[in-house]
Amino acid sequence: MNREQIDKNLRDAATTPTSFKETTTTDKTLPSELTTPSSKLVLVDSVHTLPVDYVPSTLKDDIYLKSTSEVIPIDEETGNKAKEMMQAANDAGISLYVVTGYRSYEDQQKYYTSRMELLNNSEDAKKQVQAAGCSEHQTGLAIDFTDDPSNAQPTTDFGKTDAGKWLYEHAHEYGFILRYPEGKEDITGYNYEPWHYRYVGVETATAIYEQGPDTTFEEYFNINTNENK
Ligand code: ZN
Repeated sequence: MNREQIDKNLRDAATTPTSFKETTTTDKTLPSELTTPSSKLVLVDSVHTLPVDYVPSTLKDDIYLKSTSEVIPIDEETGNKAKEMMQAANDAGISLYVVTGYRSYEDQQKYYTSRMELLNNSEDAKKQVQAAGCSEHQTGLAIDFTDDPSNAQPTTDFGKTDAGKWLYEHAHEYGFILRYPEGKEDITGYNYEPWHYRYVGVETATAIYEQGPDTTFEEYFNINTNENK
């Protein structure tokens, strides 16, 4: 993809961040749409991290999302689109539950510590769980799904279930992308997570999907991912 196409993709994305004050990164080579935490297109990974005190202003405790817990805090637009998507899945005979929406920096820190301990702090574990500040869940724009409400920790097998397959094929229609596709670990910096979907808006999600269902956010916006390797 050439520079012109990338610029066009960014213009087409046309998200207007509500605040330009905070940035995720000192990386001045990236456009502000990708570095502003409140932007729908914010890039969050092990290099581009969120401020410790960042809490989205659009968070809503959604009591109507079908989930494994009673209340899911989530970005309001993301929650509404998720509900629309889950309804469509339900109409197609697919059962989906939300495991996690927004997770605070502190909660991510606790989650990271406990998961790392469970995984014996191995090098590979770092590709399986995001450290605090590195998790898209802190943006309120990411959702982990399961088809089994008794299973709060989905595995890669989820990708082979009807629910996993349905999401893979249809999530973009509701503005969600598969954020960590299979075989793209070197680009995203994280292992395949068929349960983790990231809201970017219908237009961008569809454009990414149309370049191939395993196209990564990084590839679409031509982000230098050498640091993720
Ligand atoms: Zn997740």
